Amino acid sequence: MMTQPNLHRASSLVNRHIVAFAGGVGGAKLAQGLAHILSPDELTIIVNTGDDFEHLGLYICPDLDTVCYTLAGLANPETGWGRMNETWNTIENVEGLGGPAWFRLGDQDIATHLERTRRLREGQSLSQITKDFCSSWGIQHTILPMSDKPVRTMVDTDEGELAFQEYFVHRHCEPIVKGFRFDGVEGAEPTPGAKEALDKADAIIVCPSNPWVSVDPILKVIRKIDKPVVAVSPIIGGKTVKGPAAKMFNELGIEPSALAVAEHYRNILTGFVLDNADSYLEDDVKKLDVQTLVTDTLMNHLTDRTRLAKDVLHFIGSL
Ligand code: GDP
Repeated sequence: MMTQPNLHRASSLVNRHIVAFAGGVGGAKLAQGLAHILSPDELTIIVNTGDDFEHLGLYICPDLDTVCYTLAGLANPETGWGRMNETWNTIENVEGLGGPAWFRLGDQDIATHLERTRRLREGQSLSQITKDFCSSWGIQHTILPMSDKPVRTMVDTDEGELAFQEYFVHRHCEPIVKGFRFDGVEGAEPTPGAKEALDKADAIIVCPSNPWVSVDPILKVIRKIDKPVVAVSPIIGGKTVKGPAAKMFNELGIEPSALAVAEHYRNILTGFVLDNADSYLEDDVKKLDVQTLVTDTLMNHLTDRTRLAKDVLHFIGSL
């Protein structure tokens, strides 16, 4: 279960409230670091649900589950997603019956989707279900889906428009990306808890998640931001640590770099965190009228995550 918060409290941050925007694997890493430093009263994590989809009759929320499993200490440390000590009997038997097995669902993970689907069918909201699951998993911090209404990320490709998981998992991100559409976003309001947290927030941290498909859906649902925003680059040395963000920048005609990420967010940014490997880009980011922090942003272990979280919080304190 989760480590108790406040062990590494940065004194300048007492009485602050931070909202973190997170996708899946990259977002969950920094969210875990932040949760290690900030108390449950000081941190709210708002998670992308544009990747959600229905599959095998189950309602699956990949990013939400990755953040929850990570904060609960239940995540698979090898992949960053799914559960540790997982078994695969159900999906293997589905495959044996000729069913679709391209989206790998472990047995423990399936329990999450089964119970979520049952509750949604009873009329419970995704945010209420997430709150109950967090409580069962011993998570003290608030983790919220960006909206209780479905928003579906659609990827426009050279092979036509594909639903996000079709593109991402089934097609291994092979089709060439031409753009994105967030189906349902116009009618999707932020969850009530998200609105409250944003109202009282002193600052917003955009975790190092995919700008196109993890963070943009959250920004589109939140619509208006009037608080200082600090983003951490998910691109280090022109490459992603994991996933297709750099490939997407390339295919959209933009050279992938930390600078390209800062430019992507320039309308909302107060501060930007670049990796030491990208220190040569710091002056160019400053020219966007954005303050900078250059530090080590690779988060392999909890110690890296906590240290980066502490650096980012001190940076916010200095803005
Ligand atoms: P997904 O929905 O599971 O793809 O997860 P996210 O969108 O949250 O994270 C994907 C992004 O996280 C990729 O662009 C990665 O480069 C980035 N990322 C993953 N691990 C790290 C890390 O340790 N440090 C930084 N700076 N970025 C990371």
